[in-house]
Amino acid sequence: MINKKKIERLIYELLEAIGENPLREGLKETPHRVAKMYKEIFAGMEENPKEHVKMFNESGQGNELILVKDIPFYSMCEHHLLPFFGTIHIAYIPSRGRIIGLSKIVRIVNCYTKQLQIQERMTREIADFIFSDLETSGAAVFVEAEHLCMTMRGVKSPGAKTKTYSLKGLLSSDQKKKEELYSLL
Ligand code: ZN
Repeated sequence: MINKKKIERLIYELLEAIGENPLREGLKETPHRVAKMYKEIFAGMEENPKEHVKMFNESGQGNELILVKDIPFYSMCEHHLLPFFGTIHIAYIPSRGRIIGLSKIVRIVNCYTKQLQIQERMTREIADFIFSDLETSGAAVFVEAEHLCMTMRGVKSPGAKTKTYSLKGLLSSDQKKKEELYSLL
């Protein structure tokens, strides 16, 4: 559970620890603002992606590939507590004509992005969920992200993107399906 009171107290102390005066005009409300914001950006902690599973039958849908491109996302790097953000592409092959609504896919993605993450694990977790919990015949997840911990500190490589992907089922084993996917991307 996200403890807003505790976050407020700790942000107050953090401000002191970096040598700031938490009571000065511009900072007075900051602990409260940050606590409120954390509740929102870590909302995935309090959500179960299984609650968003609502499949429906589309009789005409065989085993054609479905691709949802350019889903924007924002997450937080668990090593530095700084944002990483970018786009996610999700592809899957329905099983027995069962498909999932687009808005549900976005909600599932949010469950995994809105928490402390590393990009590689997040990519794999989303792919596992689409493949196993949605009982699809194949799933693929591509993530392209900029990490502020890389671009605003350390090696400082502005605009550098990290790409990760995870392939499951037929989208990993069936060469023809894979080629179809890459031509769509
Ligand atoms: Zn980082």
